[in-house]
Parts: sequence; C-alpha cells; structure tokens
Amino acid sequence: MIVVHTKKELDEQLAEWRQHGDHIAMVPTMGNLHAGHLSLVELAREHAERVVVSIFVNPTQFSEDEDFEEYPRTLERDTRLLKRPAADLIFAPDVETMYPFGLKDATTISVPRITENFCGASRPGHFDGVTSVVARLFALVQPDAAFFGQKDYQQQLVIRHMSQDLNLPVAIITGETIREEDGLAMSSRNQYLTDDERANAPVLYQVLSGVGEELQNGRRDYEELESESVAKLTDAGFAVDYFSIRRAQNLEIPDRDCDELVVLAAAHLGDARLIDNTVVTV
Ligand code: AMP
Repeated sequence: MIVVHTKKELDEQLAEWRQHGDHIAMVPTMGNLHAGHLSLVELAREHAERVVVSIFVNPTQFSEDEDFEEYPRTLERDTRLLKRPAADLIFAPDVETMYPFGLKDATTISVPRITENFCGASRPGHFDGVTSVVARLFALVQPDAAFFGQKDYQQQLVIRHMSQDLNLPVAIITGETIREEDGLAMSSRNQYLTDDERANAPVLYQVLSGVGEELQNGRRDYEELESESVAKLTDAGFAVDYFSIRRAQNLEIPDRDCDELVVLAAAHLGDARLIDNTVVTV
C-alpha cells in the first residue's frame, strides 16, 4: 500500500492502474479510522481491483464554531489499519492540493432542498463543503465507484443527488452503519464523550430502534412519535437537535401510505454531537 500526498503522485499511480484496465473504488474519509470506515473499504474491495482511501479533514465543511482544529488527525495509525483490510493507496492531500485557488476563490457545489433541513439546518454551509470536496475528490481520483456510510444518511442522499444531477460517471454505494456492541454508531466524535456520557450514548439508537418497531407495528402518528422520542432523549440528558420520521428516498414528509421510512436523529451529549438513523420498510 502506498501513501501519496500530491496530485502528481496520485496521477502517476492511477495512470499505471488504468493501463492495466483496473477498476478503481474510492472511500472518502476524514481519517481517524474505525471499523465503520474499514467496512466501507471491505465493501469497496468487492467492487474493484483497486481501492483508494482519501484522508482529508476538509475545512469547508466545518463552520467557525465547530471542531476543525480539534478533529483527530492520526495518519500513522490510519495507515496501519488500512493494511488489513488492504487499501491500495491512501490519498492524504493538503489544503493547497484540494483547493489550488485558495479557500476564498474555491468553486462551491451546492445541492438545494435536500440540504435545507436536519444537518443542513443545524450546520449551515456544511453540505456545500461536503459536495464541493467530494466533487473535487471525484475529479482527482475518477473512481468507478465511491462508498459512503448509511450513518450519515442525509449526506449519502445529497451525494447521490449531486452525482446523478451532474452525470458524474461514478456509482454511489452506501454501506451499513457499523456499531459498538451496545448499539452506539461508531464515530470519530465518540471520543469527545466522557465515561458517563459514553455509558448513556446508546440510548440514542435504542430510541431510534423503538420508533422503528412502533412503525412496524402499525403506528403512523409520526409527529406524536417524534415528540415522545424527543422527550425520552431529553430525559436521558441529550440536547436534541432533530428527531424526524421522513421518506427514506428524499427526506420529504411521509403520508400514512409511505412504506420506506427513515428515522433520523442528531443530539448533543456533552461536547459530542451524535447522529444516527434507522431505515424502516413497513
Ligand atoms: P468521516 O471520516 O466521518 O467523514 O466518514 C467517512 C465515511 O465513513 C462516510 O461515508 C461516513 O458515512 C462513513 N462512516 C462513518 N461512521 C460510520 C459507521 N459507524 N458505519 C459505517 N460508515 C461510517
């Protein structure tokens, strides 16, 4: 496995692989890897001869009051983890490589509507940063397929929308959410939790799963279910950002007949902002 930092090194390696007719799968990440990222690498391996993992803490998707500076950067450890399951190449660019005109003159790609609510509402500008960096990574790597986690449900829908709308020649594939044994979705931000908060954190997924069961059992009073859930989480010490039952396909408000739902939540526990979701077919 090789680690490259520049466009030149990346281009040279990709050209060699393409000459051999190898397909390229890519897993974009911000590093500080855990089993959730590694499961995407394993999935990517099933789809292509070559797997590229990008590691880039993208400044444009953090707002000023967020954790860009503190975000854990652990390239050495990440490189070790990516030996098994094996990635072929780690692309770890610096900001100048990703934004050659500088951040102020950088082109922004912006997906409307589906970015307006949920994480888009609580993190203004976040999705513009995500789509802009993912489009840049796609242009640099030109992967045949790219892999994203269901944990960031809205994000993968936004990226699908961008890719379809711009006819980008890349298949977008979503991998399941990988969880700790107690149900907490793995996340680089879980390390911001104190021991007490960590012990409490699985309540988020318990409440989401409980709503999933209620929906399976026939409940359709979505708003009532949402407010009951917010109350449960608030009682458990969470500061709820959103808790919502939506159409899985597009995050629109579902009617009673909708058979593919997603229950989405984001909530703060101490310094950590946790997000999670469950998809329910009824
Ligand atoms: P990040 O490094 O947090 O930007 O995440 C990089 C990719 O890994 C994104 O597509 C995430 O959705 C995905 N990811 C993060 N956590 C998990 C998880 N627990 N299970 C599966 N995928 C995940």
